Amino acid sequence: MEHVKCLIIGSGPAGYTAAIYASRANLSPVLYEGIEPGGQLTTTTEVENFPGYPDGVLGTVMMDDMKRQAQKFGADIRFGVVSALELGERPFKATIDGTTTITADSVIIATGATAKYLGLPGEQKFRGMGVSACATCDGFFYRGKDVAVVGGGDTACEEATYLASICRKVYMIVRKPYLRASEAMQTRVRNTPNIEVLWEHNTVDVLGDEDGVTGALLRSADGTERTIDIMGFFLAIGHTPVTDLVKGQVELDEQGYIKTIPGTSRTNIEGVFAAGDVRDPHYRQAIVAAASGCIAALDCERFLLK
Ligand code: NDP
Repeated sequence: MEHVKCLIIGSGPAGYTAAIYASRANLSPVLYEGIEPGGQLTTTTEVENFPGYPDGVLGTVMMDDMKRQAQKFGADIRFGVVSALELGERPFKATIDGTTTITADSVIIATGATAKYLGLPGEQKFRGMGVSACATCDGFFYRGKDVAVVGGGDTACEEATYLASICRKVYMIVRKPYLRASEAMQTRVRNTPNIEVLWEHNTVDVLGDEDGVTGALLRSADGTERTIDIMGFFLAIGHTPVTDLVKGQVELDEQGYIKTIPGTSRTNIEGVFAAGDVRDPHYRQAIVAAASGCIAALDCERFLLK
């Protein structure tokens, strides 16, 4: 059975940064990329706020840069999914793609977070046929059409402005009378003429036919119902941390994020560290995830030296 000193699970900014630091510290890290190599940033367009890229950079390019940087120092980055993890005793055991088992002296969990859905029947029915949680991945299909984005946070504003650049009209369905997004993002929305914000509206259901989404039934705070004609329905209502692998083993907070000892990446299990969005309900920024990947690798190095 293969044995590794440092196993890293997840390939977003946190995982790759952990791999850069761990490989430079001679921990010979092995990183499994998971179902979505590169993580959430590969579903975004331009990243403008990561220091060091004054002209912005495509999310996919930045993730590829991080991956190559880790590989340059010897990190073993593998395409594969850790399908089970046993953290009861050391060495820890990981099953890869439901078949191979490897053991590890330490594990860095950097599995990130996934998009939330509203849980409506139509949303389920038309997923991939007009319903999407990633405007930058799927917006292209709705060029020149009318679409809607649900949510009032930074993601919703970002997705709405992106969609407005390719679609005819974008409705923002916001359940409150205000946006939660940062002032800069709100200004962008306000300055985009083909975005219409539908304040205090909730979606009753997504409507469609055999070709996909045709509309959405909305209800406003005063109980009035109306239908909007759209071909794309984009969710931007937040994320859920990906913790299925460690549930019941590693301590989670009430929202399901991995709990770490303040100021560190250490979890309740010695030798298991967490980095990135899987432990961060607040900031959820690439730079923060990258920094926490660095912290996890340094904590891991100290642990392995003991
Ligand atoms: P947020 O949690 O900030 O916002 C979620 C939005 O979805 C809120 O407006 C919320 O409404 C709404 N919502 C949640 N559940 C429902 C529901 N069931 N029905 C209708 N609306 C719902 O998530 P984001 O993904 O926007 O942002 C997460 C973090 O990432 C934030 O810290 C954000 O600042 C950051 N971010 C930063 C970016 C940047 O700087 N470029 C880009 C994207 C994200 P309500 O307000 O009523 O709760």
